[in-house]
Amino acid sequence: MEVNQRESREQILSKHLEFPDLSHRQLGKMLNIHHSTVSRVLKRFQERLTLDHGKGAGRKPGPENKKTEGKVKRIIKANPNVSSRNLAKKIGIAGLHTYKVQNFPNRDERQQSTAKTRARKLYEKMLTKYGCCVMADETYIKADFKQIPGLEFFTGKSKFYVDDKFKKKKMSKFASKYLIWQAICSCGLRNEPFVTKGTVNGEIYKSECLEKRLLPFLQQHDEAPLFWPDLASCHYSKSVLEWYEANSVHFVPKDRNPPNCPELRPVEQYWAMMKRELRKSKKTVKDEKDMLRKWKNKLRKWYRMTLYRL
Ligand SMILES: [Zn+2]
Repeated sequence: MEVNQRESREQILSKHLEFPDLSHRQLGKMLNIHHSTVSRVLKRFQERLTLDHGKGAGRKPGPENKKTEGKVKRIIKANPNVSSRNLAKKIGIAGLHTYKVQNFPNRDERQQSTAKTRARKLYEKMLTKYGCCVMADETYIKADFKQIPGLEFFTGKSKFYVDDKFKKKKMSKFASKYLIWQAICSCGLRNEPFVTKGTVNGEIYKSECLEKRLLPFLQQHDEAPLFWPDLASCHYSKSVLEWYEANSVHFVPKDRNPPNCPELRPVEQYWAMMKRELRKSKKTVKDEKDMLRKWKNKLRKWYRMTLYRL
């Protein structure tokens, strides 16, 4: 390293002597060295007539690190629940990310082999033949977003010095919750979500989800997309199958649908991300309308922020 640095310093100087009229920027371009390095080396040479660093020159680790350490401590003290990812972002260490370990469902042997074959066939025989693949699913969201389950952390020198309010969270067993149904497409489009506090039976599913929301969403596409519901029996009931037929919806047939495969369905990741964002907001919703508004707001903000495409 030192030899290379010395070499490039010599290169800079000799080129400078050879072409005294060239600017530092032009020299840098010629040598493929950043112009600030060229300026620094030449300035040092003019001042001290040497290419060597002075004794004790170079970056001093002490105060700089002390400063960062203090900053880290202050941030953690203010909020022990801060993740290392956000911490790194705050103190400006780029390129650090924290990832969650992926959980895979516990499929039995028969399910495993069916899932594998069907997933392969679904991909080869169906997905590749359509421009778009629409996936729909429902999930429950707690009215009090703080109650949405998920991993949370706290950081401290010792857990005894961290305030209880960062360490413990009261979970209520019977917290009220809302059901959200939404369809997302591989092209990145999402449809109008359906929110309800009640349960969804076959009739409601057909009228509120399929008729009012899925159909217009499919028709929004120039080419008919493939619809991939999950294997729940109500998605393949007789009246629903008739509805697909009557509205010429191209759907994944039941015997082609891989069982218990959440890791293959991006809609599951979408739920997880939305829930994480809502939990962070720590808000509470009043009614279905409020839930829908908060869901769409979060979606809009977060969508713009990440420009996430599935
Ligand atoms: Zn699409």
